[in-house]
Amino acid sequence: MFLKYLPPVLFSMFFVGMCSFYYITYLSMQGVYIQLIVGCVVLLMVMSAIQVIRFGPGYVDQDKLETQLFNELQEELKLLMMSEDRLLDFLDQNQCNQPLSEEQLIHMLNIKVLESKGIKICKTCQSYKPLRAHHCSQCKQCVFRMDHHCMWLNICIGMQNYKYFMMLIFYLNLCIILVLITYFQTYILAIEESDFQLIAKFTYYHSIFTLFMLFFPFFLHHIGCQQSNDY
Ligand SMILES: [Zn+2]
Ligand SMILES: [Zn+2]
Repeated sequence: MFLKYLPPVLFSMFFVGMCSFYYITYLSMQGVYIQLIVGCVVLLMVMSAIQVIRFGPGYVDQDKLETQLFNELQEELKLLMMSEDRLLDFLDQNQCNQPLSEEQLIHMLNIKVLESKGIKICKTCQSYKPLRAHHCSQCKQCVFRMDHHCMWLNICIGMQNYKYFMMLIFYLNLCIILVLITYFQTYILAIEESDFQLIAKFTYYHSIFTLFMLFFPFFLHHIGCQQSNDY
């Protein structure tokens, strides 16, 4: 149970640590307007992360789906009972020659309703799985338009929070670009003043921050996926 929260906690600690270091050593040397811009981007990033968690991925609401299916089944049953031609047609379609019990008829109607809606039974959690829903093994639930389970936030990314997740990745990239620009300015300053200790320190932290650049292809991949609509 505790392990579940380890990645988000470690990630937050690492990120906060890096940001504090960045602020103390670099940003404090920059103009107030740069500090304000970086501050706003970080704030927007945190707000997007909160929205991702607040909205959730959009788990399949089994109770709502069951009520919907039940109502539809009742409607179909009513229509069949009202017209004999329709009932005969239905039996013909299902290749039934012998008379059916009410239970058998309801069972067949149930299959028809599920098929018409593209709803399947999830092999893992045995509950109804609508079209484009996927099962998440970490959440142990089916999720609408599941993208992936984000281990850093420990939440699924699905239909409901995808927009906020994209915003989070966008602000994260913006933050990295700002960091790289401001780093560069201070770096040049350190070279001009021949402060080798500072240059070594900068190079070390710069390479760690560059690791965050790995998020950029990830962002492009998500944009590409969204445009081709294949997620
Ligand atoms: Zn499932
Ligand atoms: Zn999940």
